[in-house]
Amino acid sequence: MPSVHIGSDPVKASHPMIDQTARQTIDERGLRKLFDALPSGFALHEILLDGEGQPCDYRFIDVNPAFEAITGLSRSRLVGRRVREVLPQLEPQWIERYGEVALTGDSQQFDDFSAELERYYRVTAYCPEIGRFAVIVDDITAIRRSEESLRQAAKVFELTRDGVAITDASARILAVNHAFTQITGYTSEEAIGQNAGILKSGHHDEAFYRMVWNELTSTGFWQGELCNRRKTGETYPQWLTISAVHNEYGQIERYIGVFTDISRLRNAEAHAEFVAYHDTLTKLPNRSLLNIRFEHALARAQRHHHKMALLIFDLDLFKNINDSFGHEFGDVLLVAVTERFKLRLRDEDTLVRVHGDEFAVLMEEIEVAADAAVVASDLLKALEAPFRIAGSDEIYLSASVGISISPDDGSDPALLLRNADTAVNLAKAQGGKTFCFYTEALTKRTLERMHLESRLRRAIDLGHLLLHYQPLIEARSGAVIGAEALLRWYDPEQGMIAPIHFIPVAEDCGLIAPIGAWVLATACRQMRAWLDAGRALRTIAVNISPRQFFLQDVPELLRQTLADSGLDARFLELEITEGILIEHGERAVAILNRIRALGVRLSIDDFGTGYSSLSYLKRFTIDKLKIDRSFIRDVITDTSDAEIAATIIAMAHSLSLSVVAEGVETAEQLAFLEEHGCDYYQGYFFSRPLAAECFPESVENSGIVRGHPSTEGTPMFTIRSAN
Ligand code: C2E
Ligand code: MG
Ligand code: MG
Repeated sequence: MPSVHIGSDPVKASHPMIDQTARQTIDERGLRKLFDALPSGFALHEILLDGEGQPCDYRFIDVNPAFEAITGLSRSRLVGRRVREVLPQLEPQWIERYGEVALTGDSQQFDDFSAELERYYRVTAYCPEIGRFAVIVDDITAIRRSEESLRQAAKVFELTRDGVAITDASARILAVNHAFTQITGYTSEEAIGQNAGILKSGHHDEAFYRMVWNELTSTGFWQGELCNRRKTGETYPQWLTISAVHNEYGQIERYIGVFTDISRLRNAEAHAEFVAYHDTLTKLPNRSLLNIRFEHALARAQRHHHKMALLIFDLDLFKNINDSFGHEFGDVLLVAVTERFKLRLRDEDTLVRVHGDEFAVLMEEIEVAADAAVVASDLLKALEAPFRIAGSDEIYLSASVGISISPDDGSDPALLLRNADTAVNLAKAQGGKTFCFYTEALTKRTLERMHLESRLRRAIDLGHLLLHYQPLIEARSGAVIGAEALLRWYDPEQGMIAPIHFIPVAEDCGLIAPIGAWVLATACRQMRAWLDAGRALRTIAVNISPRQFFLQDVPELLRQTLADSGLDARFLELEITEGILIEHGERAVAILNRIRALGVRLSIDDFGTGYSSLSYLKRFTIDKLKIDRSFIRDVITDTSDAEIAATIIAMAHSLSLSVVAEGVETAEQLAFLEEHGCDYYQGYFFSRPLAAECFPESVENSGIVRGHPSTEGTPMFTIRSAN
């Protein structure tokens, strides 16, 4: 077996195979072992010369197993043979290089690809001694391939339209690509070193990020839609895929985030959705959207026990306009109508173009049917001014409006639409330019109501409201110790109008706030005047509507009014009803406690007709209960009313509250109340409500009744009533 000849000539190529020290320290057997164990292929040749003394071929002297593996030829097949003979397919350029090395003695290293074997090799060729030639062949295919895929990855990284960010385990950005910059607006210099949190939009809560993080750390992967923020501050939706990259110990070392800006997609979707649910001409919601909103609104209204209104506007004689001016002109007019309608509507009302010249308004959460009538007449008014469309004379438009109310006229969209359509026909039958409710009675009632409202507004302006005062009698002494202020409306045509006819309207339209403030101020001033005149009065009672607490800061109003009138708070008593607890719940307790803190007293009016939860009433300090008139009326004839009245008195006393009986009309009623220990009386038996200037120092009945119950029951007051 030919041995390895390692010449003593200095070798220019540096390679582990020709370590200089090995020669001295390792014997031949040791070297052989080393030679056989080398991962690089090694072959030693004898240089063969041609006739001209030029190297022309190389005869194998020895090869190692790695070389056998590379060539696929065993050592026995190689040794003693020539390269050109056993490896005829050897890349021609290799042989050329071999020749150069053999000729010059200069070692060479070259990388090359063997097309035959489809592999990359690094070849180191040198002459270990004269006449000898050696090659060391390393298979570098794997290195080449991974370099190549890295280069490709880098190219993809840069060229892809997806944004890519690579972060470390703590989300610090290590690298970003070009698309990242294009999408986010951050250059790689700005982004690298920052936490990926700079991209957050603030649209997702902590729980969302925790969910993403949990999934990433447990599965190594997350993908989903996310809203992020660009450097400009603009937010945009993106589709993001995050993959964790683990190191050899299984720990997460990197995260690779790949994202697509899907705002264009979203915009396209939004556009498609807009087109599906909107009218292209007016850009208003169309009937499909109406149906959807309607369903939702109805469900909500039912849950919260609200009323809802659907108004359908059908333009009167619009067909004529289309026929005489053409459809294009009609379209322009419809857009103009839309603009006018939009100006008059609240944001929460949905204006819809149902089709052609038909519009609808969906009003969620209305208090009373009259609210819908107000909107209907507002929108009718909006049409009144003539339309001026370029190139035409003034156009006058009007509409017929049909209104259906949920739940009164139905509780499903189809039925309400049908009923509103029916109502449109009713309006048309009246010649158009008006509105009709689905039910005739409602139309009549709301028209009256609206009429009353406008008259009431005028009455306030004209100073036609006034107060009457009804004496409050103390049972113990029979003395007039105070008055309840009662509102009157004096109408020059209709005469005196009782509060039950207009207070509910004032409550519905909000007029109760200015009216209530006026009542309070007038009553306080009157009381102050009486006190100044030396009257021995203790109480002025003023009624407050539960609705006032929605509309104004009643405690603040009281403070201001008392200050303005110079009346001491202890003289003022507010009559509230239990309705305040129903309408305001917990809020009522806080408001009423603020009122008490001013020193103003509270009494519960019409007690026994409403909520009657004393435990609730105890949560704020009240002073008095007023037994409702209805119990007093029948206290002699109806045993259950008698029982209720007696119970209220006893119960009030047990709670240290005083009791007023209102509506005392007869001596029998009075006798009953005296027997049960009622503290104060009020009623026609003593006095009707009177104008301030007629208010009595005392009432005669208080003396007469004691011990002399009247058999008649007719009021025996001597003071002329102003009522
Ligand atoms: P109320 O607070 O329970 O007032 C007592 C009502 O009973 C008054 O009716 C009074 O005239 C009437 N009345 C008094 N004595 C008798 C009697 O012996 N027999 C009969 N049948 N009735 C009697 P009025 O003045 O018509 O007031 C009705 C309701 O209007 C009041 O009931 C009160 O709830 C409301 N109201 C009156 N003035 C005001 C006000 O200024 N603000 C507010 N928010 N509500 C007021
Ligand atoms: Mg009252
Ligand atoms: Mg009452």
